[in-house]
Amino acid sequence: MKLDLREIMEEGGGSLPFSFEVTADGLVFSGVDEFTAPVVFSGRVENHAGTFTVTGELDSQMACTCGRCLKHFVKPLHIPVRVYLAEELQDEDSEDIYLLSEGRFCDLDEIGMEALVLNMEQRQLCSEDCKGLCPKCGKNLNDGPCNCGEDRDPRLAVLWQLLENDE
Ligand SMILES: [Zn+2]
Ligand SMILES: [Zn+2]
Repeated sequence: MKLDLREIMEEGGGSLPFSFEVTADGLVFSGVDEFTAPVVFSGRVENHAGTFTVTGELDSQMACTCGRCLKHFVKPLHIPVRVYLAEELQDEDSEDIYLLSEGRFCDLDEIGMEALVLNMEQRQLCSEDCKGLCPKCGKNLNDGPCNCGEDRDPRLAVLWQLLENDE
């Protein structure tokens, strides 16, 4: 969506609200199976004495696969967005400054899409302290320890041996 800023160009303190759906169809994110709700970008463009800011947030919901234990889960997506708009770019390296086209159109699709790409986690975890799967037997270690013995105290090895022979 391209927002025409004409009505707040002249007026310092002016503010234009927006809310629309970002098309995330072509985007692939590691661990994200699909967006289960529209990705909505909402916020406002403000003119602070000639400096234009876009303040808002991206909201959606995602079906994910845990990067450690492969569990499927759903979690909300919430990304705060704050960028600046300029009629000319002065510093090419500024990531958070976007150029106005024709001096007054703000490309909100580009801003929303880039915020999504820049802020998405590298992988999705069912919980921060997910223990993952045992590399040997594949057991989900969140459900309890397995019997592979990787974590066994060598001093108890004799005891384990006895127990196993018992079974
Ligand atoms: Zn997990
Ligand atoms: Zn195991």
